[in-house]
Amino acid sequence: MNKKWNGGKNNGISQLAECSNFYAARNFQPIWYQGPPISNGLKATNLAMNQFTRMIRDNGFRRVPKAKIDYRIPFPITSSTIRGETAFRQTGVPLSFIINPTQLDRVEVNNVVLAGSMFHAWLHRAGFQDPKTTSYFISEAPMCVMRGNQRKTPSLPDTALYQFFD
Ligand SMILES: [Zn+2]
Repeated sequence: MNKKWNGGKNNGISQLAECSNFYAARNFQPIWYQGPPISNGLKATNLAMNQFTRMIRDNGFRRVPKAKIDYRIPFPITSSTIRGETAFRQTGVPLSFIINPTQLDRVEVNNVVLAGSMFHAWLHRAGFQDPKTTSYFISEAPMCVMRGNQRKTPSLPDTALYQFFD
């Protein structure tokens, strides 16, 4: 946030945007988006963060239905931790998602894994779409969160991270 804010000019590049821009190559636009084409991960990250801001603001001022956290074991069982339904519009979307309670018992599902998983779920709420694989924005941005915005290393393959997405 400090880097993006850039002392009040708000024209900097966040570490998240830098990381997403480096890795993401596809599906940069939310379903509802009708502006000029989004061509890179930097613009997609800024758009996503603006939409999160709108959604959190609308939630706080009760302009949208209350966000609900449901708990449900997926059938068939998957390694997904948090699931968010893809939203088809920009406004009136609650931040609701569904937790898979069986995953919370696994020791490797730590707070960083959950933060990335929530980021992925909320990107769905912001209108971004799967697939949840390498090079797609909806995967690369949350994986950046899970790596602390660091570069990829062979010791931590993408599959080890996006297995937790839905
Ligand atoms: Zn997904």
